[in-house]
Amino acid sequence: MDLHLKPGKDRPVRVGHPWIFSGALREVDHGIEPGTLVRVCSADGDVIGRGYLNPRCSIAVRMLVRSDEPIGAEFFARRVSSALALRREMVGADTDAYRVINGEGDWLPGFVVDRYGDMCVLQCLTAGAERLKPLLLQALVEALSPTSIYERSEGSVREAEGLPPFAGTLHGTCPSSVTVRQNGLLFRVDPVGGQKTGLFLDQRVNRLRARELARGRRVLDAFCYTGGFAVHAGAAGAEYVVAVDSSAAAVESARENWRLNGLGEASRFVRSDVNRFLRETDDRFGLLVLDPPALVKHRRDLARGARAYKDLQLWALRRAEPDALLMTFSCSAHVDAELFRKIVLGAAADAGREVQLLERLGAGPDHPTSLAHPEGEYLSGLLLRVF
Ligand code: SAH
Repeated sequence: MDLHLKPGKDRPVRVGHPWIFSGALREVDHGIEPGTLVRVCSADGDVIGRGYLNPRCSIAVRMLVRSDEPIGAEFFARRVSSALALRREMVGADTDAYRVINGEGDWLPGFVVDRYGDMCVLQCLTAGAERLKPLLLQALVEALSPTSIYERSEGSVREAEGLPPFAGTLHGTCPSSVTVRQNGLLFRVDPVGGQKTGLFLDQRVNRLRARELARGRRVLDAFCYTGGFAVHAGAAGAEYVVAVDSSAAAVESARENWRLNGLGEASRFVRSDVNRFLRETDDRFGLLVLDPPALVKHRRDLARGARAYKDLQLWALRRAEPDALLMTFSCSAHVDAELFRKIVLGAAADAGREVQLLERLGAGPDHPTSLAHPEGEYLSGLLLRVF
């Protein structure tokens, strides 16, 4: 079916923005089944491309293609093959855990696919993606021949789309745990029980950076989850590593990954609230990694979340040795890079520490975004030197 945009609303779509908000549509028939494929036309009737519609969402249309190409097996084969070509070029041979499909960033809105060794984990976030799932599955099986594909679909986007959470095996037989390699280091991943899909793949390039910087330093991995930063720092010859997380299961898996890589004794795994740990510890660190969960989940929580980010930076800065390095992250989509910089600056001023900006950090190239779609860039990070 054809949908028409209001006059002047076609430009963002033409330059690659993948979303059309309901207010940009000339007419929306609320009786249309969520996830229906549509052809999007300008007010003048030019065909701009194809996407899928959910009339109950404010993001009414997500674009699949900016041409009149039919959305079928051939389309999916081409999208998956292009996504894989990028990963082959950007992800080293010492890594077999990475993101294969990053939703809108790979022009496959609503789909996220992560590869863990021989298996894949799929998230299907929208009604349109639900309907197209068989086509994506077929393309993935043909291109990757995975031993299994496990689906873990949950979260607020799905809820807004009117979909219940779903988890289950879609293809093959899913192992309860797999051991994968990231930057040449081993990690045990639990795709069925772990948080998200089991390992935060977006931080792979930043862990590599931490490894380059950790040698001889006392390292704090705050919010360590499965110990990605801690293990990289340990492998680099850090003087010692302290990894902190409030979840007992996370601390246990960080310790297990440390052992799996044959790293020595110079480590401490602490189950604690990071805020409390930072207030109570006598340790001082030469490299601090702060990678908390999203502290602003909804726009209405922005003021409170910004204060929580600031407080966290403040206490971390107080535990930083002179000339320490701080890698600090926000994965809140509502906190953009500029706001995050201001929050950290405020904390540095309160801590009385002067801070140099060395690098801005973000997700790796296996998490591409359309240049027209800043909403896709949720991870903001800073590498700082603290005087
Ligand atoms: N840095 C990790 C990912 C962190 S995910 C990596 O590289 O893989 C966020 C982690 O923060 C989760 O493991 C969660 O258990 C933990 N967490 C959430 N709130 C916390 C708190 N107040 N104190 C300590 N850990 C917390």
